[in-house]
Amino acid sequence: MKSNGISIDMDGFNKYLEEQKNRAKWAGSGEKKEAKIWHKLHEKLAPSVFVGYEKDEDSAKILAVIQNDEEVEKIEASGSNNSETVGGDCWLVTDKTPFYAECGGQCGDTGIISTEKGQFKVTNTLKFCNSVIAHRGWIVSGQINVFDNVKMNIDSDRRLKIRANHTATHLLQAALRQVLGDHVAQRGSFLDEERLRFDFSNNSAVSKNDLLKIEKIVNEEILKDLPVICKEMSKNEAVNAGATALFGEKYEDVVRTVKIADGDRTVSFELCGGTHAFSTGRIGSFKIVSEASIGSGIRRIEAITGCEVMKDLHAKENILTEVSAKLKCNVSEISERVADLLTDLKKKSQEIQNGRNMVAFSKLKQIQKNNVTVYSVVVEDFSVQDLRSLNDYIKNKHKDGIIMILSQNDDGKSIVVVSVSPDLQKVYNAGAIIKFGLAELNGKGGGSALFAQGAGSGNVEAALNAMCENIG
Ligand SMILES: [Zn+2]
Repeated sequence: MKSNGISIDMDGFNKYLEEQKNRAKWAGSGEKKEAKIWHKLHEKLAPSVFVGYEKDEDSAKILAVIQNDEEVEKIEASGSNNSETVGGDCWLVTDKTPFYAECGGQCGDTGIISTEKGQFKVTNTLKFCNSVIAHRGWIVSGQINVFDNVKMNIDSDRRLKIRANHTATHLLQAALRQVLGDHVAQRGSFLDEERLRFDFSNNSAVSKNDLLKIEKIVNEEILKDLPVICKEMSKNEAVNAGATALFGEKYEDVVRTVKIADGDRTVSFELCGGTHAFSTGRIGSFKIVSEASIGSGIRRIEAITGCEVMKDLHAKENILTEVSAKLKCNVSEISERVADLLTDLKKKSQEIQNGRNMVAFSKLKQIQKNNVTVYSVVVEDFSVQDLRSLNDYIKNKHKDGIIMILSQNDDGKSIVVVSVSPDLQKVYNAGAIIKFGLAELNGKGGGSALFAQGAGSGNVEAALNAMCENIG
């Protein structure tokens, strides 16, 4: 898009828009509409008690059953064809719960809520009106009634991975500040069982070298197996002790702090309500998978931990093995082998283009116009690059005159190049001549007095005639 001299990078713009949308999606804002039903429950019920810092399972009492935004007495499985899509939008609210509700960038827990008579699969957990923890999901079998006493089991394996990713996020922030400087501040984050991402303020891309340093620091803190100590204290006490708070975030008077320390050395000290690994060793390993800009002065790092790092390594190892088998060489020789192949390919391409140039040259037409020789040829399926090569080839054989080459391509594109020999440049201008051809082709292009190129669509013979007629 270009008008009035203002150009807009549409690809970059669209990419940013897409990322903005993803960010909103990841933040779960689409789900946190806070429908009327949640305000009603917020007024009726005492705040849900979260017991998931210590426990992965607990017993609790169902206080509300919600189906399609209405409170109901029970939800029931309908025969054997139950699935997530049958039975509508179902939620359970209990007096207490070990399920973590999506908050502070940490995803909600999944798991099972059950009685002897029924089983409910929890696919996500959210908190509404800052007090009602609601378990979203679907009934797998039997029924669940309001006031049932239930067993609540989170998916512990998944939670372990989430814990590791959350603690790794704190180590990442500390390492970023250590390597890039204290100006690094958190601008957003999200983590689930597969990966973590961290948005932060920094005006330029993080260099490859700095990324390696950051990765190394985080992995060293993991190897030291440092304790992760979570403690509640007053907000003032925490901030005075140097805990990092998120700018613009509202905190209660009593806050939870998460501290990672190596003896007297504080590695990380943050205000955070998330669930964490018991010690840094539980993270296993840490690997940055991407670093990118997501807006002016804001960068995003995505990373993986634990077994995900192994998975990533294996996937890359598989690619290397496949490539080395195709190239019939060892993995260590791939780089050299590819460089050789590329050199070879370039040589062969040049040979082919030379052949094509020779054939085109044999069809070269020559006419006299006002004592100037105009050389012209129409070819098929030449790229702009190919036409430039052919132009050089002709120039080498005919040192003076005007050269016009046009290519009619399979994809409907018509390409044109015009060149003027230096002795004629006071009289003729390639950039001016090509305009007559481009007008015929409805095309765009231009250039200098000596050389011009452009492309459009339409009849190349007509474009050639238009250019010839307008010489002199
Ligand atoms: Zn945190």
